[in-house]
Amino acid sequence: MSRTFDDARRWARLGTELMLEAAAGLDDDGYAAPSALPGWSRAHVAAHVAANAEALSNLVHWAATGEPTPMYASPEERAAGIERGRALLAGELTEWLRGSADALEKGMAALGEEQWRTRVVTAQGRTVPATEVPWLRSREVCVHAVDLGTGVSFADLPADFLAALCDDVVGKRSSAPGPALLLEATDTGPDSGTATRWELPGQGEPVRLTGPLHDLTAYLTGRDNGLTAADGTPAPTLAAWL
Ligand code: ZN
Repeated sequence: MSRTFDDARRWARLGTELMLEAAAGLDDDGYAAPSALPGWSRAHVAAHVAANAEALSNLVHWAATGEPTPMYASPEERAAGIERGRALLAGELTEWLRGSADALEKGMAALGEEQWRTRVVTAQGRTVPATEVPWLRSREVCVHAVDLGTGVSFADLPADFLAALCDDVVGKRSSAPGPALLLEATDTGPDSGTATRWELPGQGEPVRLTGPLHDLTAYLTGRDNGLTAADGTPAPTLAAWL
């Protein structure tokens, strides 16, 4: 199965809702608490997601006007966006999260078919059609809703999104050094329409890992997970994903 544009639009909306719901109850202390990402508070995560919406809105502007506007002017600008979260009061940060998400959604809703086909450049330097923007946003909001550490887990994300994310991460990891892996989801059948098996080329005999799709996804993206190898040993450590 491969993801469609409509899938990505749906996941981006759903992930945004999850993120906003997770953040809605946070006060200053709640935002100051650690997130699931090493060294980042929840405020860092929220600010990063808000700044990401603005950065992706730059790509939407590029698609709408043809005027090249990169996601971030510089790595420093990206870092400053994350730091900004710490200086804001809880209400302001939540409002930034909501407002930036609304503006991105509005911008995307206004793009015509021709504009969606505009070639834009991602923060990682890849040239892609603007139709990839909803997928980039889906990844951010869905994964960081979990990272926020308020109780959302990978098991709360739709199976078709998880499978698309596994496809994406396996594709990315295939071109980098790492252990050879064979990943098999135990909770998706041939009728479910989602992929159930991923092979990751790499060093050594492939290590076979089986588990629920949400655990495989958490593992591949470098998040906490319950996976062990078939012989009970811990799953091999992976390098950072992005
Ligand atoms: Zn991110």
